[in-house]
Amino acid sequence: MGEFELIRRFFDRGPARRSPLGIGDDCALIAPREHGQIAVTSDLLIEGRHFFADVLPADLGHKALAVNLSDLAAMGAEPFGFLLSVSLPGIDEAWLEGFTAGLFAIADRHRCELLGGDTTAGPLSINITAFGHVPAGAALRRDGAQPGDDLWVSGEIGGPSWAVGERYAGRGGAISATLAARLDRPEPRVALGIELRHLASAAIDLSDGLLGDLGHIVDRSRVGAEVDEAALPIAAELVAAAPQRAIEQALSGGDEYELLFTAPPENRSAIAALGQRLELPLARIGRIRDGASIVVQDARGRPRASLPRSHEHFG
Ligand code: ADP
Ligand code: MG
Repeated sequence: MGEFELIRRFFDRGPARRSPLGIGDDCALIAPREHGQIAVTSDLLIEGRHFFADVLPADLGHKALAVNLSDLAAMGAEPFGFLLSVSLPGIDEAWLEGFTAGLFAIADRHRCELLGGDTTAGPLSINITAFGHVPAGAALRRDGAQPGDDLWVSGEIGGPSWAVGERYAGRGGAISATLAARLDRPEPRVALGIELRHLASAAIDLSDGLLGDLGHIVDRSRVGAEVDEAALPIAAELVAAAPQRAIEQALSGGDEYELLFTAPPENRSAIAALGQRLELPLARIGRIRDGASIVVQDARGRPRASLPRSHEHFG
């Protein structure tokens, strides 16, 4: 099988439905909506750095798109298409079948079509660039937080990053199936992001750890923030397994793909109602302040002396 046969067999699913032109020409064509903007994001996954060689190909296909959809969610964008560039060590049909099954399952659930890409031989790496629609001016950016806003986070935190550590330490077998699924097949908070367009002032998805990602909001918005330790929705499994480390893990662990967002206090009840409608817990974990620093305080209001560091490439 050559390159073109491989593309035809595994990646080309016929004419594009949500865009004017998909796979097969020199470029795909995408059409902005009237009074709309197109949000674009890209993520590169390299074997040995972002995933283990023994990861299930279906999980890898899922996660490669999920991390991009999570970025679209964090901007309040509605996904519609993506490009896939892969470098493959060889043509392993079983691997490609698993990979595309995982990839197209999540793509179809979010009505996000594969529109093109590039295929080459080389060490295994996967790059996806995803596109979403957002009404002009409605995107949730990192620079919109205002002093007095509440700070919110979706779902539970600390679980996936703790599970990664357990796997590294050879104790992956003891992780619950639910938590392993959250790590291997994270659910991007797309519906939440779209609904937050009208309610939030700033948003970011948690990929590098809560404090690090909050740091991006604080820097870009030129504000400070206070986080209430006791309000953090820490994964129960982490609290049970490592009670002394749970808070630090929840503050610094990456790979969560939850949304961290800010919103004016008058939107509290609307946000609570939204969480109920989406069946997704939304926790109010602190507030935006004047200044430039982040303070984490315990249940009695005492600030933590030292804060854990977050993940940084080349760090
Ligand atoms: P070109 O040489 O013009 O860049 P290619 O030969 O690389 O085109 O690709 C042929 C067609 O197949 C293009 O439409 C391209 O978008 C598509 N394609 C290549 N690789 C992939 C892939 N991994 N997934 C989806 N579409 C792909
Ligand atoms: Mg090409």
